[in-house]
Order: sequence, then structure tokens, then C-alpha cells
Amino acid sequence: MRELIDELKNIKLAIFDLDGVIYRGQSLIPNVDLILEELRDLSIKVVFNSNNSTITREMYVERLKNFNIPSKYSDFYTSASITSSEITKIKKNANIFVIGEIGLREELKSEGHTILTNPSNCDDVDFVIVGLDRDFKYDNLAIAQRCILEGNARFYATNTDPTLPVARGFLPGAGVMVNALETCTSKKPIKIFGKPHPHGINMILNDLNIPAKQACIFGDRLNTDILAGNRAGIFTVAVLTGVTSKEYIEESKKKANNLDCNDNDLIPDLVLNSLDEIFKEN
Ligand SMILES: [Mg+2]
Repeated sequence: MRELIDELKNIKLAIFDLDGVIYRGQSLIPNVDLILEELRDLSIKVVFNSNNSTITREMYVERLKNFNIPSKYSDFYTSASITSSEITKIKKNANIFVIGEIGLREELKSEGHTILTNPSNCDDVDFVIVGLDRDFKYDNLAIAQRCILEGNARFYATNTDPTLPVARGFLPGAGVMVNALETCTSKKPIKIFGKPHPHGINMILNDLNIPAKQACIFGDRLNTDILAGNRAGIFTVAVLTGVTSKEYIEESKKKANNLDCNDNDLIPDLVLNSLDEIFKEN
């Protein structure tokens, strides 16, 4: 059995971003299935924390099964599931207008909330929640605008990622939909629940009862995964299989070293070309 590299040898919990770390679009990043198996063989708890709100946790289990990675519902903390449980803390059984996909709608419904698709009275809507919507429609933007400006709806967002990495490049991310609603309401979301907010990571540490110093996040984006991990006080590893290049990280480090700039939270504790590098031969 291979050993973990020294920087990771005390880790009991490995939190993985999905897009750009485990897969890109429909393609598994080579050897990731075997690496996760090796981690589990070392009794390291493996969970997944993604800003992608488009599919449910059950659907993520199926997606990973297709890549030969076994997982269960409770291993996933998506921006949709985190948003849903945080919204429930604010108000139970709320009426919600969603700009987003099935993942966000179903996670909210599973918490007992009602999704209104075409509310006749804006005063009935408690929250407008925005996530990635690949069927984004002008009419829905107009409803969301009206619920916020004419009704009492509070505006929240799952995440504001500018892009979504796919097998060949990038597609627009949830931030595009959030910006559209910001522009036509002149309001910003009250809270954005996904990374770089550390809500999800804190929820994971709490649920699994593992101290921050024994946890690590593997992510491909500095301003979400790494920032969230640093804010939560866990070990952060940038993996160069997604959106971030080595050159970009070097540039960010230089900027962070400049006293005029306070970007230290964007700097990972460790940079790996791929997840393969977490092991050394013993
Ligand atoms: Mg990613």
C-alpha cells in the first residue's frame, strides 16, 4: 500500500470539489477512482463539496457510480443542499421562486419548502434563490425581479462561480444568473451559501465531528475552494486538473506577498499537478 505524502499524513477527512478535480464534464480525471479507493483503504473519510447546484445528491451518487466511484447520498454537500438546509434555519416551509435546475428545486422541496413556478401574487414569495440554470429564461428573470422589488422576497444565491468547467473548456456559471438579477434589481444577494463561504466545510466538520486540523480540501479554483478552505482553517490543496494553472498560482503568490494586497487566503497550502501526487512510494 502506498503512503500519503508528509504534508497530508495526519489527515482524517478529505473533502473533494467535483468539477475539475474528480471529473471534467463527462470525463473522469485519470486514476481518480483508484486514488479515492486508496484513501478509503487508509481509513480517510472522503466527502464531496461542489458549488454545482444543478443535480441532486442522489443524482451525484449515480454520476460517480458511472465513473466506478462508490458513494452515498450523505457524502455530498452541494451548494443546493447547503442552501436548502441554511434556508430552513431562516424559515421553515417557505414559498420560494427558483432560478435554477432540478438539483436546487428538489433539495429545497426535500426540506419541506414549496417551489412557486408562476406566483400570481409576489407577496406570497418568501425567497428568490438563484443557482446555475442552463435553461435561463427572460420571463423567470422578470418574475424574480418583481418578487424582490414589488414583493417582500429575500434574494439568496447558491454560488457565483463565473464559469463551469466542461470537458473542452468552459460554459457560463451561476454567477451570470446572479449578476442578471443584481443588475435589474440593484440588489445583491443577502447571502451566497456555496464556496468561498465556509458554510459547507463547517457543516461537514460538524456532521463528521472531525477537527479542522485533520481536514483537507482538494479544489481547482482559488477564489472558491481554496478561499473557503482557508477561511474554515483546514489544509488546502490546489489541483491543476481544472480551471487554475501553475502560472496563475505563482502570480497570485507574488501579489499576496505584496504588502499592498491582502490575498493570502487565496493561496493554497500545497499545489499538485494531479491527485496522483498525494501518494509516495514507501
Ligand atoms: Mg471545481
